[in-house]
Amino acid sequence: MTAIITEIPAELHMTRGQKITNLVGVTLPFVGFVASIFLFWGSYVTWRDLIIFAVGYALTTLGISIGFHRLFTHRSYETYRAIRYGLAVLGSMAVQGPVIRWVSDHRKHHNFADREGDPHSPHAGFAPGLRGKLAGLWHAHVGWLFRNVGRAEWTKYAKDLLADRGMVFISRWFPAWVAASLVLPFVAGWIWGGTLDAGLQAMFWGGLIRIFLLHHITWSVNSVCHFVGSRRFQVKDESRNVWWLSWISFGESWHHNHHAFPSSAFHGLKPWELDIGGLVIRLLRRLGLVWKVNTPSVDMQRRRQLAG
Ligand SMILES: [Zn+2]
Ligand SMILES: [Zn+2]
Repeated sequence: MTAIITEIPAELHMTRGQKITNLVGVTLPFVGFVASIFLFWGSYVTWRDLIIFAVGYALTTLGISIGFHRLFTHRSYETYRAIRYGLAVLGSMAVQGPVIRWVSDHRKHHNFADREGDPHSPHAGFAPGLRGKLAGLWHAHVGWLFRNVGRAEWTKYAKDLLADRGMVFISRWFPAWVAASLVLPFVAGWIWGGTLDAGLQAMFWGGLIRIFLLHHITWSVNSVCHFVGSRRFQVKDESRNVWWLSWISFGESWHHNHHAFPSSAFHGLKPWELDIGGLVIRLLRRLGLVWKVNTPSVDMQRRRQLAG
């Protein structure tokens, strides 16, 4: 067992160069995305494409954040069956694998967090030094998808979901949700723009580019948020809070808070920690659509606070 970490070990302080490399790797796809908008404005990208993109991004990110992650993996609140299944389908349309596989891998991540057995730790099994750190980051970001994805035993990690026939059905029909994730923006663009070209262009932005961007944001939670950022609670892992990813990850990058209180429906725990997923859960609670929303009390948070 690793001892509880109460302060950041010296070897984990990153050099300026490492921090820059890290930031560039994650922000480059996003910068490329913004640059493409400017370059192709009016010809290969229009308001129509951007609106279809934004709606698709918001829905599938919520599917991952408040569906796959906060509801199915951590059971941080309860809701109606129709909403559960709706979120499972939306999350599947983010093209990050079938829901039961996603949940199993992520539960295993929490079980072993940054120790041997964690499917995507940037630390476990990597040598100290720059080379080891870069290899670890690469592994946590995308490398694990070629080595460890889907290795967590479903019968051990997702018994509850396997017992739900609807969930098994949604998980099994993953390829259909992937197809829908591309066909729906195409249809929206086609109807709105009136031409086949408009449909194809909407499929490119609202389908492919949206999937690509959300992939990198989700993977950044696995890589960056276990590598660089702030921490304030006693945890046994290397999780970090990364403020600059919070808006686009819908609050998922308050990942250190999340590792400290995994069953909390809210990842932003301070008023200034922007947590769009948490805000949506709050709204759904007000509408009476979700209940038993798990929140760590101020007292619980204080007790876990790092000294100094
Ligand atoms: Zn984590
Ligand atoms: Zn989690």
